[in-house]
Amino acid sequence: MSDKRLATIAVRTGIDSDSQYHAVVPPIYLTSTYSFPAFGEVPQYDYSRSGNPTRNTLADALSELEGGAGGVVTSCGTAAMNLLVTALLGPDDLIVAPHDCYGGTYRLFNTRANKGDFKVEFVDQSDQEALAAALAKKPKLIWVETPSNPLVRVVDIAALCQQAKEVGCLVAVDNTFLSPLLQQPISLGADFVVHSTTKYLNGHSDVVGGVLISKDAEMAETIAWWANCIGATGAPFDAYLTLRGLRTLAPRMRMHEENGVAVLEYLQQQAMVGTIYHPSLPSHPGHDIAKRQQKGFGSMMSFEFAGSQAQLEVFVKELKLFSLAESLGGTESLIAHPSSMTHRAMSDEAQAEAGISTSLLRLSVGLEDPRDLVADLEQAFHLAAEAH
Ligand SMILES: *Cc1c(COP(=O)(O)O)cnc(C)c1O
Repeated sequence: MSDKRLATIAVRTGIDSDSQYHAVVPPIYLTSTYSFPAFGEVPQYDYSRSGNPTRNTLADALSELEGGAGGVVTSCGTAAMNLLVTALLGPDDLIVAPHDCYGGTYRLFNTRANKGDFKVEFVDQSDQEALAAALAKKPKLIWVETPSNPLVRVVDIAALCQQAKEVGCLVAVDNTFLSPLLQQPISLGADFVVHSTTKYLNGHSDVVGGVLISKDAEMAETIAWWANCIGATGAPFDAYLTLRGLRTLAPRMRMHEENGVAVLEYLQQQAMVGTIYHPSLPSHPGHDIAKRQQKGFGSMMSFEFAGSQAQLEVFVKELKLFSLAESLGGTESLIAHPSSMTHRAMSDEAQAEAGISTSLLRLSVGLEDPRDLVADLEQAFHLAAEAH
């Protein structure tokens, strides 16, 4: 592990490492293949599916930020999740996942389990009885997503890892909502960390990518072998853009949080807002855990719109600075309606069980001036209140 602080690692990754021309910013290697120095002499890199210097620079940076032994940069976050379950699980193995996980995670695990690739159980991980019952079945892997999407529910990573270890179960944490700046699951006992780098790590909504980081060096090698075997690795150009985005991660996360506080304070005073979901609120379940295990509360939040569906549609349509779009963690603010967008792959029953109502709206607070964001919400609520 590095003795450097996280912001420094994020900024300095690969800087001044070019031995040929001494370029300060590392060059991008778009090549698909590499020449062998001599007959039968295998070079460090031979083919870009298995290895690429630009992609490896990013993988090493993310692994260092998470305190892991090694990582694989994948074509998207979903590919990182698929890589892990492919490498780890057989038909008799059980994975225990949260009942309110990311919609695509639910779809992936559910579909592959239905094909017989492995077994899956979705449980409310804050329900100690349900969790203990699931652990009694000796799962091979527990999947954790905290804070969760879209209700930002918090799971106690250290406590869960302790319980998992007792039954010989591995733990993977999807850390997409916070980034390693605000939460480091491996330091809390997790074996794997997954990110959709599409979100805060790249941070500019112009790349789809992912990473799977392992705590254990031998496991990191096994995972890298599988990534090459199934072709899950990401493109060098995407890795280059993500490295560029990563350099500003620390200041971006600070501003995302600052703007998030401004929006949250406004929402708390707004009549057309019901329950607000954000780990910073003392009333939020898991607030105390979040205070302990996170270095910040993050800027993802959701709330119940207290009005008719017609009014909700007016509100969303009238917003000028919150684009109606899936995804999150970019410089621009976004609003999503989980039940018809990110979580539409879940059945109505599964949505109800996960607590996702049709009046739920999710905000990804961006880096615009917070006064403009609040003014935009204000005018849209005003027009929604007038509509019927
Ligand atoms: C977006 C997202 C994913 C999936 O990542 P992709 O890059 O879209 O494949 C997984 N988990 C969470 C929490 C996400 O927000």
